Amino acid sequence: METKKKILIVEDEKNIAMVLAYNIKKEGFECDIAYDGEDGLTKAITGSYDLILLDIMLPKMNGFEVCEKIRYKSQVPIIFVTAKEEEKDKIFGLETGADDYVTKPFSFRELLARIRVNIRRSSGEVVRAAVQEAPAGSLLTVGELVIDQEHYSVTKNGEPIELSKKDYDLIALLAENVGKVFTREDLLEKVWGYDDYFGDIRTVDVTVSRLRKKIEKDPAKPEYIMSKRGVGYYLCAR
Ligand code: CA
Repeated sequence: METKKKILIVEDEKNIAMVLAYNIKKEGFECDIAYDGEDGLTKAITGSYDLILLDIMLPKMNGFEVCEKIRYKSQVPIIFVTAKEEEKDKIFGLETGADDYVTKPFSFRELLARIRVNIRRSSGEVVRAAVQEAPAGSLLTVGELVIDQEHYSVTKNGEPIELSKKDYDLIALLAENVGKVFTREDLLEKVWGYDDYFGDIRTVDVTVSRLRKKIEKDPAKPEYIMSKRGVGYYLCAR
């Protein structure tokens, strides 16, 4: 039998946490709860989870900080589950390394769809499907970048670049199709596995800007990840 995927809920409102846990278990996942940020961080780092649902306003340590600290150690998919609706919070959440966010109130069906997509994507299935023409384990070289498809890692001039899973998926897809322009909608579908209903194209922009900070000499004047105004993004052949 396939082992159950394990989800960590970090949420200080006990009612919400319990209802979530109940519903998530009913869908066949295992589930743990942490009621504050510190406990959430400890569990996230010491336990082995397939996905983390992370609240923002938490006692002891807020969700942004928890997310940043988890990212030093792990690429586990993180979805912010938050009452904060302000755009800047969403953007900031993604910049701290989260993979996605859901704003309260949300339907459990929507959350479940996002959980499934993020777990599937994290296991590499979505990207493998998107870059199916790439032989497994091959190295892609673009300028000073080397994308190692066997180890899901990227180096620049031989120096490893710290990337979240989503950063990696995006750069790998672009590198596999150097020069080809992808629309934001294309990228949402291929990298995030979302259809139009769940997708938010700003997620793509934020991820691109995060990625540029990591790989470009001057993120304001990118030499690798180029924008095609009004269309989308492509990786420049160098
Ligand atoms: Ca809270």
